[in-house]
Amino acid sequence: MSEKLANLLFPNIEKTPSDYEECFPGRDLPKGAKVTRLGPSPTGFMHLGNLYGAFVDERLAHQSNGVFYLRIEDTDDKRYVEGAVDTIIKSLDYFGIHFDEGATKDGDVGKYGSYTQSERKEIYQTYAKELVRNGFAYPCFLTEDEINKIRAEQESQKLTPGIYGDFAPSRNLSYEEVEEKIKAGKPWVLRLASSGDCSQRTDIVRKIRVNDAIRGRLEMPENYHDVVILKTTGIPTYHFAHVIDDHLMRTTHVVRGAEWLPSLPIHVELFEKLGFEMPIYCHTAQLMKLDEEGNRRKLSKRNDPELSLDFYRKKGYHPAAVREYLLTILNSNFEEWRIEHPDSNYENFEFTTEKMSNSGALFDLDKLNNISKDVLLGIPAAELYDFLKNWAGEFRPELLDIFEDEEYFCSFVDLGRDDKKPRKDLVYGEQIIEFMSCYFDILHDKMPKDSLPEEASGDAELILNKYLETYNHSDDQSQWFDKIREIATALGYAAKPKDFKKHPEDYKGHVGHVSTVIRIALLGRATSPDIWSIQQIMGEEMVRGRIKKYISEL
Ligand code: GLU
Repeated sequence: MSEKLANLLFPNIEKTPSDYEECFPGRDLPKGAKVTRLGPSPTGFMHLGNLYGAFVDERLAHQSNGVFYLRIEDTDDKRYVEGAVDTIIKSLDYFGIHFDEGATKDGDVGKYGSYTQSERKEIYQTYAKELVRNGFAYPCFLTEDEINKIRAEQESQKLTPGIYGDFAPSRNLSYEEVEEKIKAGKPWVLRLASSGDCSQRTDIVRKIRVNDAIRGRLEMPENYHDVVILKTTGIPTYHFAHVIDDHLMRTTHVVRGAEWLPSLPIHVELFEKLGFEMPIYCHTAQLMKLDEEGNRRKLSKRNDPELSLDFYRKKGYHPAAVREYLLTILNSNFEEWRIEHPDSNYENFEFTTEKMSNSGALFDLDKLNNISKDVLLGIPAAELYDFLKNWAGEFRPELLDIFEDEEYFCSFVDLGRDDKKPRKDLVYGEQIIEFMSCYFDILHDKMPKDSLPEEASGDAELILNKYLETYNHSDDQSQWFDKIREIATALGYAAKPKDFKKHPEDYKGHVGHVSTVIRIALLGRATSPDIWSIQQIMGEEMVRGRIKKYISEL
């Protein structure tokens, strides 16, 4: 009966599983090499979770001289977005994650394709036919209405909803009944004939055991649902497709989100019934963030723009910073390693799934920003200049003028970076432009200016005129500061802040208030890196021009 039924359901499938086993032999890789894959849906939206998982895949494969490939999981065709494959590859490429094999916008690379699920229908059906042949799958003709009725009945009996046991009427149809329905054109799905115990007796729950590379030993109740493996269109569900694909593409490690954990028992049963060896599962933790009240919650597409990978590119985060940050949340010993190897490439860090959190990885933009400051400090100015110029070219073309003079730009990037306690002013593209806008007339003219310190605002014009009179561009830093001190004392300000603090009644303010006036006149900012150094980069003409203009606007 099973052979007859298999032919009735899949008359056009002539190949057998062994044809595919031969076609896709085990990979010829060094011992211990891992084969991993990323299986995104082509929705065009790449999120942090994709990058987080891709990072694990990439490290596992490349650390072991294995293979990392891209598979497009498009069995849910409603979600297909044109050009998505290119978006996926490009957005990961930006973070230094490259595939060795798989789908590309110009077709497949590699011998285990097709790497697009919608092109693998015949393969899935061949294995589906085999399952029917072995009595492990059957056509189910239940309509939506009938399924709803079954669910209502199960609810009233306080039973788990689903198609199983006595609630799976199509399982007992005779060949003739099936044939009749098919001839009458009745739509059907193919269901797994689960051999799980569906009695729902709490005293005899049978368990499956899986060793998860992140979570360790997992024990879960076995599956007993006759889950759908092929939809009415003949397209497989995720469960079936991933089992077939990961087997035939010879995947050794399946890295995926914790949201797949509940369906693991289904996958275990499918692997068993198909006679395939199971890959090693690595269920990653959910990405969480702390909300305003300090509670952990899942990152959501609607509320958290930082979930989208585009967010980092648009804001101008350097990929090395995002990568460095992800490693700190991916592996609990990474930060320690980094302290010991401050200049080492992250690829030298031995990434392991055992050091991954399984309870929820906390994502924190402030921490990313802090890490970014350190990472940028290690990137030479010329390289940062190229990076920022490219970023501006793509996202802020109106800013390109400020990149005209590379030397000028780089001198500002380097300001204070070599100090004993280096300045860490630069975080990401948008912030850097904002921070540096006071150095470029076109931006400085438009930026909001800080207001003068109360202590010295009445003397601003006097201070600035004096400053212009005594300014000598070739003064060294201490000569320059001596002159400011002179201006300050001549006008009744303390030469040292501590004198003012001790006897505030004796002074109008102190030298710091006077230099703040100069800083604001020069830059529009009350805080900045060292003024003397800035002036040396700007050149005398620009310094005098800015101060004069400020006086004229007082
Ligand atoms: N297509 C699945 C998703 O979008 C991939 C899950 C897996 O990697 O197995 O989440």
